[in-house]
Amino acid sequence: MTDPFPPLIRTSLIQAAGDVAHRIAAPLAESVDRDGHWPREAMQALGVNGLLGLHVPKRLGGLGEGLSALAQVTEVLGKACGSTAMCFGMHCVATAVIAAKATPLQEERYLRSIAEGRHVTSLALSEPGTGAHFYLPRATFRREADGFQIRGSKSFVTSGDHADSYVVSTVAPGAELDPGTFTCLLIDRHTPGIEWGPVWNGIGMRGNSSRAATLNGVQVPEGNLLGREGDQIWFVFEVVAPFFLVAMSGTYLGIAQAALDLAVSHLQQHRHEHTSERLAENAALGEKVAEMWIQVERTRRLLQHAARAGDEGTPDAAQALFAAKIDVADTVVAVTNTAMTLLGGRGYQENGKLARLMRDAQAAHVMSPTTHLLKGWLSRSVLGLPLL
Ligand SMILES: Cc1cc2nc3c(=O)[nH]c(=O)nc-3n(C[C@H](O)[C@H](O)[C@H](O)COP(=O)(O)OP(=O)(O)OC[C@H]3O[C@@H](n4cnc5c(N)ncnc54)[C@H](O)[C@@H]3O)c2cc1C
Repeated sequence: MTDPFPPLIRTSLIQAAGDVAHRIAAPLAESVDRDGHWPREAMQALGVNGLLGLHVPKRLGGLGEGLSALAQVTEVLGKACGSTAMCFGMHCVATAVIAAKATPLQEERYLRSIAEGRHVTSLALSEPGTGAHFYLPRATFRREADGFQIRGSKSFVTSGDHADSYVVSTVAPGAELDPGTFTCLLIDRHTPGIEWGPVWNGIGMRGNSSRAATLNGVQVPEGNLLGREGDQIWFVFEVVAPFFLVAMSGTYLGIAQAALDLAVSHLQQHRHEHTSERLAENAALGEKVAEMWIQVERTRRLLQHAARAGDEGTPDAAQALFAAKIDVADTVVAVTNTAMTLLGGRGYQENGKLARLMRDAQAAHVMSPTTHLLKGWLSRSVLGLPLL
């Protein structure tokens, strides 16, 4: 029988990601979390290893990979450091948005630099006024002689004030309520008029520098329009949603696997004096490990299936992708919780790695598209209704 899940991408690529995760992201994860430090070292190492160009076409020096590679690389990184995986994931989504309809100028200016590991990008879609409905921006753009002027507010911009550019969603004045008419523009980091909000101080993902930004008449050149004016609903469902869902799913799957690994190692190492038995030998605890393993592996298989369906463009791809992110959020919250129970008072007392994994896990349901929204989209898709 043929393996339904043969190796999806070059092993060398996963090895390179694993090397960065092991040598740089994992050892720094504690200080990234404690100090709210943006994971510059890991992002640089990902760049040196060509991984920032994961979704840049090969003809521009990138790796030309798709969703399957993204699922695996973000899992590897998420296992080592959630914040690093989040920053890398948002960079990948924004890169995919740029690459989807890049002009020759955008290819030379942005995609080549990304492939060379010299440029980190990110995504500024969410806004305080529309929250989870990230496809309803209120930031407006005004056309000018040689470009655009943007005004508005963005919330939770991952890698805020660290990335070199930001994919920003905007609408023409008066088009705020039509979800089909928004326009994405690429803003360079040091463009005058960007005012960053307070430093990110979330309960988890503490290194991801997810900051608010006010855009006070930011001038963007004509050449930084992504695609055509008003065609961004295409980007939402063809690019943003698939890449976002896979990047987040991979990240949270990695966190769940790390929690499972911690629980296993605790049960293997800890021994009670009164019985001289290792906790691993206790059947009730073993049952919990079995349940966690099933949850993690089932989620991984669903994610791999969804990513592959997305790469191949099969008709059920969107449903599988929605389901994967819904499932991983349930899995990571449940598995980190159960791991905390298995580590007992010690796990609770330490405020160590497992506490970080638990805190990082909590954003899984509220990262867009949120679980509530996805369940709505999935049910509407299954029922044959329009998504929005
Ligand atoms: C760590 C972190 C990093 C992030 N990075 C980025 C980024 O890089 N770029 C970016 O654009 N955004 C980013 N976000 C924002 C994220 O994707 C969500 O848009 C945001 O978390 C939504 O939160 P809110 O409180 O504003 O949503 P709210 O809209 O206030 O939602 C609150 C809750 O209500 C639910 N809800 C809302 N509306 C409905 C409805 N109609 N029906 C049912 N339930 C509903 C939501 O699902 C959610 O659970 C980030 C968020 C976090 C926490």
